[in-house]
Amino acid sequence: MFQIVTRAALVALVATIISFLVISSIIRWQGVAFTYSTILLAVLVPLFTIFPAVFYLLYQQHRLKERLVKLEEAHLELQKFSELDPMTELLNRAAFFEALKILRYRNNAGALLLIDADFFKSINDQYGHSIGDRAIKQIAFLMRNATRKNDLLGRVGGEEFCVYLPAANHEGALLVAENIRRSVHETPFYIEGSTMHPLTVSIGGAVSREFESNSHMLSRADRNLYIAKRMGRNQISFQDQ
Ligand code: GH3
Ligand code: MG
Ligand code: MG
Repeated sequence: MFQIVTRAALVALVATIISFLVISSIIRWQGVAFTYSTILLAVLVPLFTIFPAVFYLLYQQHRLKERLVKLEEAHLELQKFSELDPMTELLNRAAFFEALKILRYRNNAGALLLIDADFFKSINDQYGHSIGDRAIKQIAFLMRNATRKNDLLGRVGGEEFCVYLPAANHEGALLVAENIRRSVHETPFYIEGSTMHPLTVSIGGAVSREFESNSHMLSRADRNLYIAKRMGRNQISFQDQ
């Protein structure tokens, strides 16, 4: 605001000086007597018209610039949110972490689940990649079913997923993790006809801490995922807090 006032004042000052010089030279050229009221008019008229006009224009320009910046931010935000993983239609890795940043910036409370399909390589090895793809889709579908609309879901690696539960505490996060683990374990995965293959996931959790970076929270969840794998898979761990 100070900058706008200063710039408007400068323009008004220059206009006033020009007006004074032009009017005084006209008066001198006509040989008319120089009165105080003429001088006053030559100074006051441009001062009181140019200053508010320039101020108004500069202020409008400033507001337009601000709106443009906000529009660009919103556009970027929307673009990130629209970056979905084509196979599962969950957020891709970049979009998930961008959305996580925005969510935690607004409200730090929440919990992160890192979910990894167990022994996935053996599914590919036994039945081929396209059956493996179908297993990934089934896990994503069950994850969506076990979570709420406002939860953030992403596919952050090949057979690795992330769920962020805004405002969830340890108990709430454990409940959702258990729902996901159980539904993946209990939902039959059909290879062809009635042939089935067991599907399970291991889950590492981390409850968000104040002032903790996303990457630090993710590495805690990753350590817990490692613990869940070591406990025999198809397990949940929140041990490392
Ligand atoms: P663990 O229980 O330790 O996680 O064992 P794992 O076999 O799941 O883990 P590993 O990291 O050894 O192998 C992951 C496998 O997931 C290897 C890779 O081929 C497979 N994979 C990753 N992305 C995709 C995908 O998009 N489609 C298919 N079909 N397979 C994938
Ligand atoms: Mg795996
Ligand atoms: Mg993995």
